[in-house]
Amino acid sequence: MLEGNGPHIAVTPPGPKAAAVIARDERHLSTSLTRTARLVAASAHGAYVDDIDGNRYLDFGSGIAVTILGHTHPRVVTAIERQAAELIHVNSCDYFSLPQVEYAERINALAPGSGAKRVFFSNSGSEAVEAAIKSAVYHTGRTGFVAFTGGFHGRTMGALGLTSNAAVSRARYAGAMMPNVAFAPYANPYRNPFSGDCAAAALDYLEDHILDGALPAENCAAIVFEPLQGAAGYIVPPVEFVRGLERICRERGILLVADEVQTGFAKTGHMFASEAFGVEPDLICLSKAIAAGLPMGATVGRAELFEWDANTHENTLGGNPVVVAAALAVLDVIEEEHLAERAVRIGERVTSGLGELQAAHPRIGDVRGLGAMIGLEFVTDPETKEPDTAARDAFITTCFESGLLVLGAGASSIRLSPPLVLTDGETDTGLEIMTGALRAIGV
Ligand code: PMP
Repeated sequence: MLEGNGPHIAVTPPGPKAAAVIARDERHLSTSLTRTARLVAASAHGAYVDDIDGNRYLDFGSGIAVTILGHTHPRVVTAIERQAAELIHVNSCDYFSLPQVEYAERINALAPGSGAKRVFFSNSGSEAVEAAIKSAVYHTGRTGFVAFTGGFHGRTMGALGLTSNAAVSRARYAGAMMPNVAFAPYANPYRNPFSGDCAAAALDYLEDHILDGALPAENCAAIVFEPLQGAAGYIVPPVEFVRGLERICRERGILLVADEVQTGFAKTGHMFASEAFGVEPDLICLSKAIAAGLPMGATVGRAELFEWDANTHENTLGGNPVVVAAALAVLDVIEEEHLAERAVRIGERVTSGLGELQAAHPRIGDVRGLGAMIGLEFVTDPETKEPDTAARDAFITTCFESGLLVLGAGASSIRLSPPLVLTDGETDTGLEIMTGALRAIGV
């Protein structure tokens, strides 16, 4: 096992303390939670998570791309402590507070596009998407939406209506979700559903079969897309696809909504993934990493899309002062520690290591990514590209038992989103554990 301050497994997880907590959890919590591994976290600092039995894991998942500064970054902890001692709650339906205004000014200045911006605060990614849906309906007077195959936008009935990622997440809710959503094929370079160029063909399909067919453009409020599909397995579309979506929206008077809940802030090498593609969405949905793990959602976009009558959309806890104080610290650290540049360097090192692994293990069918958001996909055969879910799941479990946290996505992919403070040594340790796991599972 690895020595020193790195990951170490003292007792095969789940150890006795973890097993006892899990047994209580299984009696008292909703069983709808998926759970990747039997990890009971006790504390976490930097790139490491400690469980309650004394095991230490190197975290390459970051709680689904949340802890980009590493866990419990001192600047974030101090900001939370200071703010919590002064003011914890102001209901912005009723009153005002300075941290909210400061954050609004900064996020509006950072969001792509030169025009005036406004922001709406909420508490989660799903709610950030709900705000975009409601703003689009309110301001266009239309109720139709286009979303994409493989896309994930949340679990609330509106956001779920845009989500096509997993049949199980929709199956029992058919008829109760937001209706009037047409799904277009996403331009997936590894699994191109078309015979020709995947970007051009996906754009043609969108225009010919959807906007001139099933959901006429004049009924379409917005096209909602992920600039890099997260839950599908970190699928990076061609630049021409994303630019094409923007062009089609402009030509046909449709709003472009970028769901950057998972891609938001620095991980892709840009503050917003939209910038990597050179597009300026009308609305951008944010959550996950923006407050370092505290619950926060934000929908930012063209000012006129947030100029609506009082009481048409609001909430109790959005823009909570403590959460926003953490979010301001996140912006400071990203800027001061140049985390977007570091994401690129980490991404290059991880991707080159995974490329070597792919050459030795052809059942890794694909390695792809943008900055430090990297996907790899297991297949039974590189020719047929049949998804190998069993190999992917065995890989996750073996990594976990060896002290590395990695998360699954899609049918047979792994999504890596290591913290942007990862050192070269930690990167190499993670790659070493993955190498061992591939050998152990025999792919
Ligand atoms: N959009 C995207 C792109 C996401 O990845 C997620 C969460 N995985 C959501 C929306 C929903 O966020 P939340 O779980 O905070 O509601």
